[in-house]
Amino acid sequence: MNRKQLVVGNWKMNGSLSDNEALLDGLAVADGLSELDISVCVPYPYLAQARERLAAGIISWGAQNVSEHDAGAYTGEISGSMLADFEVSFGLVGHSERRSFYADDNELVGIKARKLLNVGITPIVCVGETFKQREAEETFGIISAQLEAVIERIGLENLGRIVLAYEPVWAIGTGLTASPEQAQEVHEYLRGQVALLDEAAARSLRILYGGSVKPDNAEKLFRQADVDGGLIGGASLNLIDFLTICRLAT
Ligand code: PEP
Repeated sequence: MNRKQLVVGNWKMNGSLSDNEALLDGLAVADGLSELDISVCVPYPYLAQARERLAAGIISWGAQNVSEHDAGAYTGEISGSMLADFEVSFGLVGHSERRSFYADDNELVGIKARKLLNVGITPIVCVGETFKQREAEETFGIISAQLEAVIERIGLENLGRIVLAYEPVWAIGTGLTASPEQAQEVHEYLRGQVALLDEAAARSLRILYGGSVKPDNAEKLFRQADVDGGLIGGASLNLIDFLTICRLAT
């Protein structure tokens, strides 16, 4: 199946109103990318700015997290319906920084994915193993458990509505990247796991690779049969690098 490639930028906690202008305006006028889906997950305060600057073009905007609650006394939290107010297309859940710094465990990640689906936002569910877990040959067990917890919460009927991102924790922001073969092996495994439950969903499922993707390593990763695009952290903050990576996905 020919899945439309998706490249998503994760700005993390970076940016300012003035710095973002050049980046967003550069993305808004970038051409030759219509065969791709592209999105940038900006910090919450910049969602309005991203919407204003990107609305006329083909690039969408997303969020990096969502509350597990719908409304109420949860100081500092942002609900799915608030994100929907800003016409967010994608929301990250289970990013390794959330899992390790904010205790987002498998169950919470599943609940958050469900909250996004409830308001029509596509969850990008991040899974991945630490270096120690890879060394101990626990990769498949770890990512299976992460995936299963999400499926349990969203229900089998919604398997076709999510995006997966394989992000080996040891490769995020470290300059280390999974080899194309390592990425393909895990992506194929993930697709196989989904196929056991829903073959059609597995065929159309987009599985992104994330972890120090740069212009000089993106092409080989994107050429792998089960790699359907990328989740790009650091390099998404540089317009030229991000657009180069996007073009390598076409
Ligand atoms: C990320 O933040 O999801 C990520 C993959 O970061 P980086 O590309 O910087 O490794």
